[in-house]
Amino acid sequence: MPRIPVRIESNIGPLMDDRQCGRCNACCIWYGVDSSREAQAEGTVSLYKHAGEKCKFINKRLDHRRCGVYDKRPCACVRFKCSWLMGFFPDDFRPDKVGLVASMYLRDGISDDADPTSVSKNDVNVTIVVTDVNKCGDFETGPLGKMVHEFISRGVDDIRVVNYRSRQVLHFYHGDVYNGELLKSTSPEELKFVTHNPIGSYTEAPDEEQVT
Ligand code: SF4
Ligand code: SF4
Repeated sequence: MPRIPVRIESNIGPLMDDRQCGRCNACCIWYGVDSSREAQAEGTVSLYKHAGEKCKFINKRLDHRRCGVYDKRPCACVRFKCSWLMGFFPDDFRPDKVGLVASMYLRDGISDDADPTSVSKNDVNVTIVVTDVNKCGDFETGPLGKMVHEFISRGVDDIRVVNYRSRQVLHFYHGDVYNGELLKSTSPEELKFVTHNPIGSYTEAPDEEQVT
């Protein structure tokens, strides 16, 4: 699943450059990387890890258990910014603090190189990974509900809340909410799941024309 290019993500929400990862290294654990899928700069390390596997390059001796191969990390790591780092959600919603890490993707079939003006909000989906159920709270009052609400209010209408430990998925899709389970993925960067009958509904944001 191609990661959404920054220039398109900026059409959906705010872009900030003053947030820092700090003590967080959630994406080095909770996102899959297969560095063989794309061209790498010379000297870059290769990495093949599934979501939920701690990256072997995390160096515990560095402050905040940071990347031990930072200058040689794969292209996918260089490009990655979670939605919080991009400027979504309140300042104190850093992934390690709320037990949730969110990121946006382009729908299958849409190229990373697509013209941003031709990409609508319907071409975007969001994955929110639950990394700590003790921190993420509930849908009524906790950070999880607030994150989902923020994406819905910005017009994103395909939101997957994923718990890799329980293998459960909650899918907010075009006004309905579905329960589901993760399926075995064929590659680390693929998110595969099955859903059942709707268990609820939500109000979609008013339709807009193309994102401008
Ligand atoms: S999950 Fe976000 S804030 Fe945390 S290390 Fe990754 S990019 Fe930085
Ligand atoms: S290579 Fe570095 S940046 Fe990439 S997942 Fe591993 S620790 Fe994180």
